[in-house]
Amino acid sequence: MIDAELRAGILSEALPHLKRYNDQIVVVKYGGNAMIDEELKQAVISDVLMLHLVGIHVVLVHGGGPEISAMLKKTGTESHFVNGLRYTDEQTMDIVQMVLCGKVNKELVSLPDGRGIGLGGMDGNLFEAVKLDDGENDYGYVGKIESVNCQIVKDVIEKGYIPVISSVACGLDDHHSYNVNADTAASALAGALHARKLILLTDIAGLLADPSDPTSVIEEVKLSRLPELINSDVISGGMIPKVDCCVEAVRQGVENASIIDGRVPHSILIELLTNEGIGTMFSQEVI
Ligand code: ADP
Ligand code: MG
Repeated sequence: MIDAELRAGILSEALPHLKRYNDQIVVVKYGGNAMIDEELKQAVISDVLMLHLVGIHVVLVHGGGPEISAMLKKTGTESHFVNGLRYTDEQTMDIVQMVLCGKVNKELVSLPDGRGIGLGGMDGNLFEAVKLDDGENDYGYVGKIESVNCQIVKDVIEKGYIPVISSVACGLDDHHSYNVNADTAASALAGALHARKLILLTDIAGLLADPSDPTSVIEEVKLSRLPELINSDVISGGMIPKVDCCVEAVRQGVENASIIDGRVPHSILIELLTNEGIGTMFSQEVI
């Protein structure tokens, strides 16, 4: 246990950070182990609630990959991924919607002391998507977000609640639901809301220079370094949408975007309220 003076010192060191983020929106994508492990889940929720109570507007966007895979397994459907994205046929989409908008969303909403309000991409047409078409692969009902109607999220924030958002989208040209990678949804929302920061919580220490070496975290990525990184093939699988999302958010005007380790308790507080931060931060040349 640390003594009271040291504790007070640590708290007061957070002041410049609290000032910087006061009344600002921070979008947090919540996924991976931090969503499954009960202790980590409590730590994430208490961080979110604390930031909310000190005047930082946290918006939680969640995935639910492991829960979706578990439910698909129960129904005898195989999960398969193309470029880090879940191939989504009609039946998979039904399950994605049931699990994300139902079970996972409502469980999360119930946690932060009655301050959570659950929303999905269909609410107020929050996320409007078309079928993702990269000209090479078929992803089924995976959506590419075309527009974000974020007024509903602003309203929820204004009323003093924490928006908890599941990453499904409504069709822009049809009445189908689309599965959207939660990193992508968080990034698009951060851009639309003019968020100050985007945080992607995941199961790895950050972007690794050598994916087999967990100590090789790249702490900072200026956008100009990207072509070099992409050409060096260090980015693969689920890290592809993550890096794309951080870059896109920063291009949309979000000050910086970070990929941080959700396995570390209170990593959100470390990233937002300490000088050191954690994980990999993407930003423009000068911040
Ligand atoms: P999430 O559920 O948080 O979206 P994903 O599994 O989709 O997590 O994406 C993170 C995964 O990306 C890591 O666990 C790792 O296996 C993979 N990955 C590929 N290349 C890298 C890299 N250069 N650095 C870190 N992780 C990488
Ligand atoms: Mg992923």
